[in-house]
Amino acid sequence: MPTVLRAFDDKNEGYKEGKVSNTRFGSFPHSTLIGQKWGSQIAASKVDTGSRGRKPTKRKAEELDASTGADDDSASTKTPVAASSGFLHLMYPTPESWTLSLPHRTQVVYTPDYSYILHRLRARPGSTVIEAGAGSGSFTHASVRAVFNGYPGEKPATKKQRLGKVCSYEFHEQRAGRVREEITEHGLDGLVEVTHRDVYEDGFLLGDPQTGRSPKASAIFLDLPAPWLALKHLVRHPASGGESPLDPNSTAYICTFSPCLEQAEKTIRMMRKLSWLNISMVEVQHNRIEVKRERIGLDCDGIRGATVFPKTVDEAATKLREDDARAKRFRLGRSADEETSAKEEASSLKEPAGPLYSVGRLVHRSENELKTHTSYLVFAILPRDWTEEDEQRCRQKYPSDK
Ligand code: SAM
Repeated sequence: MPTVLRAFDDKNEGYKEGKVSNTRFGSFPHSTLIGQKWGSQIAASKVDTGSRGRKPTKRKAEELDASTGADDDSASTKTPVAASSGFLHLMYPTPESWTLSLPHRTQVVYTPDYSYILHRLRARPGSTVIEAGAGSGSFTHASVRAVFNGYPGEKPATKKQRLGKVCSYEFHEQRAGRVREEITEHGLDGLVEVTHRDVYEDGFLLGDPQTGRSPKASAIFLDLPAPWLALKHLVRHPASGGESPLDPNSTAYICTFSPCLEQAEKTIRMMRKLSWLNISMVEVQHNRIEVKRERIGLDCDGIRGATVFPKTVDEAATKLREDDARAKRFRLGRSADEETSAKEEASSLKEPAGPLYSVGRLVHRSENELKTHTSYLVFAILPRDWTEEDEQRCRQKYPSDK
């Protein structure tokens, strides 16, 4: 997995002249990054401050050993530490890279979950998504990419292109403020509206909780400690007599994200009471599976590129010795006789029956550390109201429909 260099330091100040990001691949003064084109390869700075050989602290050593590729990506204004001859590529920021590098203020929703959730919520260019709570803004960034058909900061080609929107609610004032700032920094203004609000009490209208505008959402994602308390606001006809936050012309798709089964059960019970349908619960068990063909040695068993699996340790050791000797002979050069017998040996080898990539035994291995349970996802839909007028309009539009 590529390592993501944090685009923002602890104070979230972004890349700055005079700063340096130190990674295990070397030091990258920000002056060498600013103004470069996306995709550029930037070599690590060769600055040597004499820190080479300095023993890393225990924590740093653990970080460097971490198989996840976690870096010391701290951006400091200090002089660069001794650089290795690494490089980096400047990549266009994506929700995935932001999720891996954002400053954590809360638990966040990760890519395996949000990609599945957004797919089930039918979030697409033009959709309006309600999200609560905003937390660290991980889901916010993924959902805005799903509903906006373009690149942040880019002028929309058509007016329609900008119709998608994310209405994000967060009751922690500082968190709401930070998400708002990040949205601006990432050129997403106008596509995300962050409201500081307790949604259990005040629901999802934009502006004033009683008399505000309806976001007219067709997709809802609730990452809250008690999602069932917010459901009473997500109805077609609110008890308060106010507007519904749902799009009257679309089915509403909802997903709630809860770490405990008890929370999921409470949510499901409330969903049933409020007439949500097709209720289902899913747990995403994301697990990387490495698939490869094992090819021990080449030209074994009389088949070019075939695999022979030694059955015993002795067999394996003999095979290694033979391979070694063959490599040595090759390095030293071969006598005319050896050359001839090598050619004969080579020509006696059968070509593999299929293409080379299909040669060898197919093996697969799941990653050791299983990222098991994150949360229970509860999905449901709420159909739109269907009135006599809708029926009439439909008959006019499709007269053959009896
Ligand atoms: N989905 C977010 C992300 O991907 O970064 C993380 C959400 S975090 C786990 C839950 C958030 O819900 C917290 O920031 C919390 O302040 C907020 N929250 C809790 N109760 C709330 C309420 N009644 N109204 C609005 N937000 C609430």
